[in-house]
Amino acid sequence: MTIRRVTLTFDNGPTPGITERVLEILERRRIRSTFFVIGRKLDDPAAADLIRRAHAAGHWIGNHTLSHTVALGDRPEHDYAVSEIEGAQQRIGSFAHAEKLFRPYGNSGRLGPHLLSRPALDHLLAQKYWTITWNNVPGDWKDPDGWVESCIALVSGGSWSVVVLHDIEGACLARLPELLRRLEDLGVGFEQDFPDSVTLTRKGKIVCLPQGYLTDESRPR
Ligand SMILES: [Zn+2]
Repeated sequence: MTIRRVTLTFDNGPTPGITERVLEILERRRIRSTFFVIGRKLDDPAAADLIRRAHAAGHWIGNHTLSHTVALGDRPEHDYAVSEIEGAQQRIGSFAHAEKLFRPYGNSGRLGPHLLSRPALDHLLAQKYWTITWNNVPGDWKDPDGWVESCIALVSGGSWSVVVLHDIEGACLARLPELLRRLEDLGVGFEQDFPDSVTLTRKGKIVCLPQGYLTDESRPR
């Protein structure tokens, strides 16, 4: 039997009161993950302190845009892309992963042409970002009764799940211990790394960029 691999990621934080509890739950099981943080949230010193703690505990800190409001492909100007990417990266500062992890805003976990504009892609390549998407979005923020089951089903159906959870109010926290127990019962291998299948760019090169992830600028808007 092939061992299924699982990489956990926590998006849209950090959130004081939530992120520290997520960190405790992960620490108990010695699981390392990545926190894809929203730059604006780091303007709150209590939130900024949480990325220091997460980083000290061995988690990776990734950039999940400055404002998390309009997807890069939906506003394809060069200046917008640079301010969304670099504004967050500056705030993350020395806690950033050495390979500059970046995850575009998907707007409810959707994959599609809204993810990236051409200027955003060019910037991510020129600045050598490791751009990551996902393949397992169980919907922790909108389906409190079903998301654990959805996650397990997606893990069981794939070889390497990159799971998107949220360290925000009313999302994964209450049932995270249950999810981790069930994943351990399944015998999954927890990874911190990301497979090429969810890597759009790395080290200045395109790795796996489906055509449908880039805004078609010739399309009427
Ligand atoms: Zn997000």
